[in-house]
Amino acid sequence: MLPKTQFYKPSFFTLHLQFIPSIFHFSTLSQAHETLSGQSLTITKQAFTSLLHSHSSHPNHLKQIHSLLLTTGLSVKNSLITQLLTSLCVLGDMSYARQLFDEMHKPRPFVWNTLIKGYFKNELPNEVASVYRQMHHIDVRPDPFTFPFVVKCCTELSELWVGVAIHAHVLKYGLEFIAMVRTELMVMYVKFGEMGSADYLLESMVEKDLVAWNALISAYAQNGHASRALQLFHQMVVGEIRPDSVTIVSAFSACAHLGCLEIGEEIYGLARKEGIDINVIVDNARLDMYVKCGSIDMARSLFENMHNRNVISWSTMIGGYAMNGESKKALELFSSMQNERVQPNYVTFLGVLSACTHAGLVKEGWYYFNYMVQSNKKDIKPRKEHYACMVDLLGRSGHLNEAYNFIKSMPIEPDLGVWGALLGACTIHHNVALGQHVADSLFELAPDIGSYHVLLSNMYAAAGRWHCVEKVRLKMKKKGAKKVVAYSSVEFNGQIHVLYSGDRLHPQATRIYKKLEQLFKHMKSMGYSPKTSSVLHDVDMEEKEATLNSHSEKLAIAFGLLNVRPELPIRVIKNLRICDDCHTFSKLASEITMREIIMRDKNRFHHFKDGFCSCNDFW
Ligand code: ZN
Ligand code: ZN
Repeated sequence: MLPKTQFYKPSFFTLHLQFIPSIFHFSTLSQAHETLSGQSLTITKQAFTSLLHSHSSHPNHLKQIHSLLLTTGLSVKNSLITQLLTSLCVLGDMSYARQLFDEMHKPRPFVWNTLIKGYFKNELPNEVASVYRQMHHIDVRPDPFTFPFVVKCCTELSELWVGVAIHAHVLKYGLEFIAMVRTELMVMYVKFGEMGSADYLLESMVEKDLVAWNALISAYAQNGHASRALQLFHQMVVGEIRPDSVTIVSAFSACAHLGCLEIGEEIYGLARKEGIDINVIVDNARLDMYVKCGSIDMARSLFENMHNRNVISWSTMIGGYAMNGESKKALELFSSMQNERVQPNYVTFLGVLSACTHAGLVKEGWYYFNYMVQSNKKDIKPRKEHYACMVDLLGRSGHLNEAYNFIKSMPIEPDLGVWGALLGACTIHHNVALGQHVADSLFELAPDIGSYHVLLSNMYAAAGRWHCVEKVRLKMKKKGAKKVVAYSSVEFNGQIHVLYSGDRLHPQATRIYKKLEQLFKHMKSMGYSPKTSSVLHDVDMEEKEATLNSHSEKLAIAFGLLNVRPELPIRVIKNLRICDDCHTFSKLASEITMREIIMRDKNRFHHFKDGFCSCNDFW
């Protein structure tokens, strides 16, 4: 219930205009009430607005102001209630905001929009949909400010059909050419993977302003369509639209995802030529790009030369060292960060723990994890990702039971990442019994995620339990679980070349397989024999070898050897974890050809040089 006139009686509490300035000098509202009570005062709309502004930091203050409005009869003024409602939305008291709204007489679209925005900002997409439905039901005409949040909420609800229906409403109300509405629709279609619709909306825009390009490039970069983001960036520059620092950040992020250093450097050159503001956000995005391209020295040099460094810069650099297997440097940098009194956050600790994981530093891992648990800072309390990291650390280093007990003692519900880390460790250490048990917990949470079925299947295959492999395969088919298609990519001549496992359609396929044949011949003379346990199915030896020999990373390395200039390293990005056999192959290939091969797999970087890998075979 709303506080009607809880402690202010109209009979003795009527405000007069001449006393108003004194209200603003009170430190609390209750002080204002106390002092003013008994006096005969009148208050204006303007005075209430000022009172609201000076006391809008807590919902209780706003409720007291609402009481004043009710007492003085000003509550009938929708404009004052709207101001209160806006403040309540900002503070997140949506139930009180909703009660205020329900008591208003014929609220204007602006008020509906305020409520919709409030629900959206407070992460209540179902409520956004409900308010919009109500608005539609009683024929309140939406305006251009209604749709951006309603469209955003369709993405949150993961309902494409709702989004399409909303798009139809946008057309019905003739708002399809309003830039902010159209931009949100484009972003929505990208998030649903409907790139054709997004591109159509951009192309059919009368005036493509910078904001629309930025929104779309960023949406592509952040939703797994990095190549498309770069294509669009190119299209924008060719179309003589000057990018700004927001565009450059998205373009760097796309390069980071694809691991394309050459293109990233060109983009940086363009940004400098255009005189674009290189602020700390741009520098951090460039730093992240170097890190994710495996150019850790370039990253460090940029880090040292940055004018401004914030917690993101430190965390990126620490995480970068961890990913690239330089755990000692990651932990040293964390100490420097503490010496410089830069406050770490949960992302920094993710880098620190992952440095421990990649080097098998169990004791140090526990130290940092316990530090997080004991901290009274909310921003560094362990989250699911940190628990997953600890399980990975314990599991990989062979402490499987400790990892299992750690999961069982978690104060938060373990998620897929946590169980998945343990299943991965069971596969590495061939612990089939625990692996089966872990898989049961995992499939309870997500019965249809193909990658976990593949992990389980790999574990059985490594143990030679082919009937279990077949069982998993049938289960996957029944559940409709899809395997992720394995691929590797190499950047060459400003283009990304993608190679799939067993790829025969690539224009250079004949040359690639010929190169591989030569390499295998050389390797076998050095004692290499294919690790056929990496092959999933129970097929004969010859077929197993053929499957192994055409893994995408091997094809990508052969492509790199044929095309990338000898003085440059061959940079390969693999979408899954590299298998044992490809790891051995890559080490030998680096030795035979005297080339540096830098490979980023799903978990980390492998720098292959002179027959060795930076991970020391621990990954
Ligand atoms: Zn492989
Ligand atoms: Zn390695």
